[in-house]
Amino acid sequence: MQDDKSSRKRKRKSKIGSSADPSCNDASIICDKRKKVVKKVELPASSTVVATNSLKQSKSNAFLDKMRAKLSGGHFRMINERLYTCTGDEALSYFKEDPSLFNVYHTGYQEQMFHWPEQPVNIIIKWLKSRKTSLVVADFGCGDAILAKNVKNKVFSIDLVAKDPSVIACDMSNTPLDSSSIDVSVFCLSLMGTNFPNYIQEAYRVLKPSGWLLIAEVKSRFDPNNGGADPDRFVNAVSQLGFTLISKDFSNKMFILLYFKRKVPLPDLEEKQSSKGKQIEWPELKPCLYKRR
Ligand code: SAH
Repeated sequence: MQDDKSSRKRKRKSKIGSSADPSCNDASIICDKRKKVVKKVELPASSTVVATNSLKQSKSNAFLDKMRAKLSGGHFRMINERLYTCTGDEALSYFKEDPSLFNVYHTGYQEQMFHWPEQPVNIIIKWLKSRKTSLVVADFGCGDAILAKNVKNKVFSIDLVAKDPSVIACDMSNTPLDSSSIDVSVFCLSLMGTNFPNYIQEAYRVLKPSGWLLIAEVKSRFDPNNGGADPDRFVNAVSQLGFTLISKDFSNKMFILLYFKRKVPLPDLEEKQSSKGKQIEWPELKPCLYKRR
């Protein structure tokens, strides 16, 4: 059985560049996978060996690139799972120990996003562009700070690691932002930690009365038929924290978008508000584990 397989492999190998594959038996012909002749280059006979070697070299480079991509893809999925299964301050220590992991994470993240038909951050950018540029924004879990780079508003970009000097590096459950100083708080695919309610509570603290809270999250995390949270329970919990749901958009295949406004608190209720977070029954949000590609 094994012998059959290896002799078949040998036969397949020997076809490449042999008379069984006439379009490829000349090293001066560069062909693609479908054996179409792409370009005929005139080469002196002595250069045939050189061309064969460089073909071999580029094949082995391609193989190495593929292996490297596989390894870093695996590394990305490991870091991603870690971020979804620990608290924000544990995640902060994790990246403090080795900040280079943040780049591994974001390279893998961009690779995943590349396959999404639409990126939620672009919808949020459009939303902001349709409003006054004077609105002050806090981008919680900004990643590459794409939001700040694409709008005219003043944006406080926050993440565990500052990839850019403009980013505030901290755990977003405890930011240095002033209370009631922000018009729009954004969480774009960033409610990762197991203590995510603390992040929303922090957004509440920094928002001005009537300020906006925009949440974009991976749809599968809100699919009750698939172990995800009931979106109504989530909306309920956010509302109890002191927000009103203004609109929701479930039309996208990959993510959901929720638009809340901070309720104007009655005087002297502000104090009680902070302890309220502990009594709210938050649904669990299951980790978003990306598939191997
Ligand atoms: N919002 C960006 C990046 C999303 S990736 C975009 O849409 O392109 C999620 C980001 O949230 C990561 O960069 C991760 O480091 C950050 N994040 C997760 N937990 C965090 C925490 N506790 N404090 C700060 N940033 C956090």
